[in-house]
Amino acid sequence: MTPETLVSLDRAHLIHPVSSWRDQEEHGPRILQSGQGSWLTDIHGNTLLDGFAGLWCVNVGYGQQSVVQAAAEQMTRLPYATGYFGFASESAITLASRLAAVTPGDLNRVFFSQGGSDAVDSALRFIRFYQHARGTPEKRHVIGLARGYHGSTYTGAGLTALAAFHRNADVPLAWQHHIPSPDPYRHPKGPDAAAIIAACVADLHNKVAELGGPEHVAAFFCEPVQGSGGVAVPPVGWLSAMRNACRELDILFVTDEVITGFGRTGPLFACEHENVVPDMMTVAKGLTSGYAPMGAVFMSEGMYATIRDATPAGVAVGHGMTYSAHPVSAAIGLAVLDLYQNGLLENGVRSGVHLAKRLASMKDHPLVGDTRSMGMLAAIELVTDKQAKTKPAASLGISKKLARIGYENGVLFRAFGDDIIGLAPPLCMTLEETDILCDRIEVVLNTLLDDKDIAAAIA
Ligand code: PLP
Repeated sequence: MTPETLVSLDRAHLIHPVSSWRDQEEHGPRILQSGQGSWLTDIHGNTLLDGFAGLWCVNVGYGQQSVVQAAAEQMTRLPYATGYFGFASESAITLASRLAAVTPGDLNRVFFSQGGSDAVDSALRFIRFYQHARGTPEKRHVIGLARGYHGSTYTGAGLTALAAFHRNADVPLAWQHHIPSPDPYRHPKGPDAAAIIAACVADLHNKVAELGGPEHVAAFFCEPVQGSGGVAVPPVGWLSAMRNACRELDILFVTDEVITGFGRTGPLFACEHENVVPDMMTVAKGLTSGYAPMGAVFMSEGMYATIRDATPAGVAVGHGMTYSAHPVSAAIGLAVLDLYQNGLLENGVRSGVHLAKRLASMKDHPLVGDTRSMGMLAAIELVTDKQAKTKPAASLGISKKLARIGYENGVLFRAFGDDIIGLAPPLCMTLEETDILCDRIEVVLNTLLDDKDIAAAIA
């Protein structure tokens, strides 16, 4: 099919995830054709450096032949095996045990989902089962963070605190609540780390009290680094302080590592930075590096045993999907894990250090208010007044301009609203490619300045 035909068919039929349906129909898609390493080629033959690893998921990069072969081999031998009725596949069992060996603490029990949203939804259901099993069914409220993102099932969208996911959807649900984000750039106590951490712990205690005390609260969910909320990197010590607060309050501490898992921030899991062991952890994206859909929920031995022991023999714990623990995704997960454990994490750390240095030097740019990163997860925050931290006015249309100028300059990143450029390059990106990425971003920032309205808006 010609590119023109594909574009018109897309406009007529394909509903895109989290997109403006009007813009999509008006402009049609940008169609990607192939990829190698950190590079993509579109249907017109343009090459693009992928500064966002697809959707923060292609951590191993494109065209990894060991992954392709693992998938082909599994598909040829056994493309599907149900996990229902006592069946399993070798790849799913092997992946579960290899992950149990590398997850923090005693997070040894794993349920495989199809992605991050249903991993979060599964976690919420398991938490409910657990509170019933413990004999504390009145512990039903769940607390998340402002600017948090936890997927787009009904329960995940409610736990999310981003306006687009609440609009016309009747969420958050009655048992879902939020406390302020720990973002050092915009926190009222910022940038002092100790003050932010103390305020966040107090916010959690206050919210729990407002909900009637710990006997009414089941869990606190957080991303170790907030992703879709604009890559907000909390101060060092925040994660462990929140973990300790949850332990004191007797509420479950759940980390959503759908973005931060699998080397995105350096180590395999972001919890490792502070030696934090959550009660539950959700992952997806880097688990299969986007080569096939898969997510997972890990739970502690204690939680698992509580649910198991409260469920009579022969009675099913009623949660699962046709594609839970899909054998092809599991085979891909194993091949991807081999890559992480054979040099890829180290490469990500090296390139992440270089990325942080290059970003720090962009702080002098007239439009840049803040740059921040942890490993290969980063953001550049744009302001029109550095002193007052003024967000660019929506009328300047920066979000759309960023996407267009980036594409024209052969670089992909993600614009969050009109003020934040998000970066999550593949972990295989070399130092030279990291320089090309940053050079191109600098061109994008300077091109924004050429826009008379934007230049005039800068204080
Ligand atoms: N949780 C977090 C932290 C995420 O960033 C995402 C997706 O970006 C999700 C959950 C949902 O994952 P998925 O898009 O695979 O359903």
